Amino acid sequence: MSTTQLLNFVDGEWSHSSATESLTIPNPATAQSIAVLPVSPAPDVDAAVQAATRAFPEWRRTPAGERIQYLFTFKTLLEEHLDELAQTITNECGKTYTEAAGEMRRGIENVEVACGIPSLLQGLYSEDIARGIDETMIRQPVGVVAAITPFNFPGMIPLWFLPYAIACGNTFILKPSDKTPLTAQKIFTLLEQTGLPKGVANLVNGAKETVDALVDHPEVRAISLVGSTPVAKAVYARATANGKRAQCQGGAKNPIIVLPDANIEDVAQVAAESAFGCAGQRCLAASLAITVGDAAQPFVEAMADVAIRRNVGYGLDAGVEMGPVIRAESKARIEQLIQTGLDDGAQAIVDGRQAQVASYEQGYFVKPTILTEVQPGSQIATTEIFGPVLSVMPAKDIDAALSLVNGQRYGNMACLFTRSGAAARKFRYEAQVGNLGINVGVAAPMAFFPFSGWKDSFFGDLHGQGRDAIDFYTEKKVIVERWG
Ligand code: NAD
Repeated sequence: MSTTQLLNFVDGEWSHSSATESLTIPNPATAQSIAVLPVSPAPDVDAAVQAATRAFPEWRRTPAGERIQYLFTFKTLLEEHLDELAQTITNECGKTYTEAAGEMRRGIENVEVACGIPSLLQGLYSEDIARGIDETMIRQPVGVVAAITPFNFPGMIPLWFLPYAIACGNTFILKPSDKTPLTAQKIFTLLEQTGLPKGVANLVNGAKETVDALVDHPEVRAISLVGSTPVAKAVYARATANGKRAQCQGGAKNPIIVLPDANIEDVAQVAAESAFGCAGQRCLAASLAITVGDAAQPFVEAMADVAIRRNVGYGLDAGVEMGPVIRAESKARIEQLIQTGLDDGAQAIVDGRQAQVASYEQGYFVKPTILTEVQPGSQIATTEIFGPVLSVMPAKDIDAALSLVNGQRYGNMACLFTRSGAAARKFRYEAQVGNLGINVGVAAPMAFFPFSGWKDSFFGDLHGQGRDAIDFYTEKKVIVERWG
């Protein structure tokens, strides 16, 4: 496979970065280099911001109904190129082709929702707020906005932001992941084919230095970031200190509660998909299973059976159900965390370390791992592993299980498996978590709902997707009028 030199897309043109530093991008299944990423420095960021600033006045004046025509074309192009996009995701990110195609589908869904912007942008009007006086609220775009995205959904997560930002009349800069930048390159090639006016959407490759330049640039009005909690927290603090609007989605440690009345065989299938799908590298991956009462033994047995049978390999090969993790360092970190868990008293019911995958000996594979007797508060119980590792711990009843859920620093997702409506209602009412699943293992909000992380999983007020995205990407202006 050839090595791609990644380019920036600025002011409607593909251009080489002025970077002196670059990063090599491997295919995580083979460890072979597939691309070289420039770490774009501040002058490259400035060029993109200047292009976006120049494009803004005319784009803002373009009626919303005209702006979305580019998005309709974009959706069609994304659909037509879905196979190529999914293959790119598998090759740079490691997930299976089915997972990659599913990711693109969820991304396209955001383009579809943003095509409804003309009605979503509508304001409010009150006649006669006092005698002969009327009041109106209209929405206007914010200006130049930027999004910084993580490695694990290189197709979907840029589309949590780009369609809404430009449909609302803003001009936009994407800084994709420095680990999985190839998909964004293809997405921008398609965007270019829509005929979108130059400067409306720009792509700048890079890493921390590039992010800092965006977050510090006075012309950038709003920052969206999805990444790990330390980065989300730091970027939120820096962006808001610079007077910018910010929404920063962070990491997770997602618990699932299994009540003894649930159908344990079915739960094991769903829980395995949540814990091991995308090699556990989802911010909505189940990482802790809290078994209540008698659920413990049958759940662990059923999970072990499903985990051992999971077919691990290169995501483009037929029948493969789980790919590698993203980097050799990630594999080493995950295996070290498992060892720490064992040292702290956990038992490995299934141990996925030292995984060997025929024909892919250099790949960064960790097979499904299940740990029991995990102690609440221990490192393995509290750290985001971001690998295919499920820790199991018992609780005597749903109250004890909920207190484990609510004792966590993260609040991205929690799930409950039960046949009891009363238990489900209690869970929905009391869980201090933003995205809940009830008899669902990956509670991923549809594009017309907010992606609602809480606590250390989110820094900001307005979430990504849905109506929150419209609020984030617009300023509200209120006019009080008296005539004659
Ligand atoms: P990361 O924090 O390493 O990187 C995220 C982005 O920030 C990348 O574009 C990266 O280039 C940039 N970045 C990295 N370090 C930086 C720094 N010090 N200063 C400024 N920018 C920096 O995250 P990742 O490893 O790419 O992604 C995995 C993480 O993202 C996990 O923690 C996962 O839970 C989280 N995630 C969260 C959600 C969510 O919706 N809450 C969704 C997907 C992933």
